Amino acid sequence: MSKPRALVIGAGVGGLTAAVALSARGWRVTVLERAPALEPVGAGIAVAPNALRALDVVGLGDAVRALRSWTDEGGGLRTPSGRWLARTTGDKAAARFGDPLVLLARSTLVDLLRSRLPADVTVRTGTPAALDDPGDPGEGKRPATVRTEDGEVFEAELVVAADGIHSATRRALFPAHPGPRYAGFTTWRFLAEAPGERVPPHETWGRGTTWGTQPLPDGRLYAYAAATVPEGQRAPDGERAELMRLFGTWHWPLPQLIQAVRSEDVLRNDVHHMTEPLPAHHAGRTVLIGDAAHAMTPSAGQGGNQSIEDAIVLGQHADPGRDIAVTLAAHTRDRLPRTSEVVRRSARAARMTTLTSGPACALRNAVIGAVTRLAPGAALRVMDGIADWSPPQRTYASQSRSSAHTSGQSRPPGP
Ligand SMILES: Cc1cc2nc3c(=O)[nH]c(=O)nc-3n(C[C@H](O)[C@H](O)[C@H](O)COP(=O)(O)OP(=O)(O)OC[C@H]3O[C@@H](n4cnc5c(N)ncnc54)[C@H](O)[C@@H]3O)c2cc1C
Repeated sequence: MSKPRALVIGAGVGGLTAAVALSARGWRVTVLERAPALEPVGAGIAVAPNALRALDVVGLGDAVRALRSWTDEGGGLRTPSGRWLARTTGDKAAARFGDPLVLLARSTLVDLLRSRLPADVTVRTGTPAALDDPGDPGEGKRPATVRTEDGEVFEAELVVAADGIHSATRRALFPAHPGPRYAGFTTWRFLAEAPGERVPPHETWGRGTTWGTQPLPDGRLYAYAAATVPEGQRAPDGERAELMRLFGTWHWPLPQLIQAVRSEDVLRNDVHHMTEPLPAHHAGRTVLIGDAAHAMTPSAGQGGNQSIEDAIVLGQHADPGRDIAVTLAAHTRDRLPRTSEVVRRSARAARMTTLTSGPACALRNAVIGAVTRLAPGAALRVMDGIADWSPPQRTYASQSRSSAHTSGQSRPPGP
């Protein structure tokens, strides 16, 4: 029997994971990516325990775990003067959630995903594509169609739209949905050479401003920053100058890192999130995953992790022999409540870092300091229910043997 066809729009973290997952389930997968090459943008990414367990399903979890660099070294939350507000170690986080948090260059994660793509998966870069018809799995059994900018038309039994936060597929499927809205802050990201001395992993919170520095396994540092500013601003004299104005008086090594980076190597993105969930993550034969389905603030570091979860859970439901309407309804049933909750919690986390009033920030810091002294594990508790998630099944093989549906809601990690 010939394999059913799956078309993936977008080769970001979500789209590539979906391609790996669906090909493992027996789909013939084609990926259409608008960018001329798979050159990953976005500097660094934190792969959380929930996504590691999802990646285990396609045999990639251990390859990411092997790149873990944060172990018993103290890291945590600081004030702009460098004082520690809360401290923890990578080992404590790993013990709480059953797996570590792994900081990687985004290119490393993309390369790992690409290395897992079987030879029969076609990835076409330089190919912007748009949904033509979401398809109808009902009586007429009409395939979905996707049209490239050059006018080429692809038919498929399943379309996975992983086309990111400004997803045209989302707008086509749910035109009445308001889409993402500005979250009130902008972000900067860059990769830096480490200064001679080891930098402990940290976030530093100021008044409406945040900085993070995370060591990467290859010895470089991933630096990110955020500031509460009106939407759409860009620094007339370059983003390095803007970072220097905002963070140039903060503790070591922030000024040194900013001094060393070139403005053109600093990524700046205003943050948008979907405060109103979609009515469903699918329509017809088309399913939305990742930021296309549920863009969130980066404040819990979960956007990419949730796109990995989506792709792996989709693979678990997408038995090629199963009615696609049943598959996609099960996917929405699993993913919509979970991702809506993570969007809400990411927005709540963002409220802590976008406070601009001096007294409110002083109170926040005092509460964090007191809670940390009284309950040393408290800093990690904010990720309970998110980082402790496991996929419904551990392997696609076990899913094939059993057609029973299990929920993808949070559960403690098992053996
Ligand atoms: C400052 C910052 C820090 C972050 N840190 C983290 C973190 O530590 N951990 C984490 O998990 N997440 C993090 N995120 C969020 C994360 O970057 C996103 O959630 C994640 O990249 C979403 O993946 P995706 O595959 O859904 O979309 P994307 O990565 O945006 O990929 C979409 C792809 O679709 C392509 N595309 C779009 N339209 C078309 C079209 N018409 N035709 C063909 N291709 C198309 C695009 O070119 C792109 O390659 C952070 C975000 C920010 C802003």
